[in-house]
Amino acid sequence: MGNNAREKLIVQPLGGNEMPRFGGPGTMMRLPSRASAEGLDAAFVGVPFDIGTSNRSGTRFGPRQIRAESTLLRPYNMGTRAAPFDALAVGDLGDVATNPYNLADSIRIIEEFYRGVVKTGCRPLSLGGDHTIVLPVLRAIAGRHGPVGLVHVDAHADINDTMFGEKVAHGTPFRRAVEEGLLDCRRVVQIGLRGTGYAAEDFDWPRQQGFRVVQAEECWYRSLAPLMTEVRAQLGTGPVYITFDIDGLDPSVAPGTGTPEPGGLTGSQGLEIIRGCRGLNVVGGDLVEVSPPYDPSGNTALLGAGLLFEMLCVLPGVPYR
Ligand code: MN
Ligand code: MN
Repeated sequence: MGNNAREKLIVQPLGGNEMPRFGGPGTMMRLPSRASAEGLDAAFVGVPFDIGTSNRSGTRFGPRQIRAESTLLRPYNMGTRAAPFDALAVGDLGDVATNPYNLADSIRIIEEFYRGVVKTGCRPLSLGGDHTIVLPVLRAIAGRHGPVGLVHVDAHADINDTMFGEKVAHGTPFRRAVEEGLLDCRRVVQIGLRGTGYAAEDFDWPRQQGFRVVQAEECWYRSLAPLMTEVRAQLGTGPVYITFDIDGLDPSVAPGTGTPEPGGLTGSQGLEIIRGCRGLNVVGGDLVEVSPPYDPSGNTALLGAGLLFEMLCVLPGVPYR
């Protein structure tokens, strides 16, 4: 695509003084809906999918609710001074047409969709969906960039071998990703892990793979900015993917999710983690496990929308003004 065509795709989201925030298009941040990633630097993608969940479902409604709450987002980041829409071409590619009757087929469909996105050079930011979706996304991402570093926020390690005998579920994606060589294991950090498990191996297995595991207790009562300084040093200049399971945050701030665990991160710690990724070569990210049926206030989806905007703000090429 020529430079002029790309420049035409650099647009601001529809503003709150042009159309009231309760009106207008239902896209992420009321950005233009785009049929193709061609010419886009970054794109929001919805993955309505919850048949990988083990307990309370409902994340199939996540993309729609995150988009609805995203109408409150304004284009400039007052906290970090990021102005992503001044330089990046960003759009909303809509939802992946998953197959609600077939998990394996859905995984195939998601991977195919993301292969189409990343082959253009576009960096996808995904609205989940349960955490199963990260596996096909990582397959596509690694297909373009090779094994990636990972910043993974979660209450859970998601490294089970199987669940009910199944290899693909929302508690297994990072075991599969290691087996398939999708991750650069010395450049993986998991933050916020906690709660009850079956055995110490739940958190020891990732350490044995070379991951840095930062349990929630190590995060309590402190800023995570110093941790992120170390994470940036560890992750270096190679490609990095951010996967943010909303249950990494405490249920007091993010109750609308399927497997809540007490003692989690605060909202500001979540922001510190994403903002601390500035300077890394972030090639994509996702925000998963928002379950609107458990989120009657919409606050969990609102927080999720804000975290996705923060991911956009740390992509390479974003100006800070
Ligand atoms: Mn997870
Ligand atoms: Mn989780």
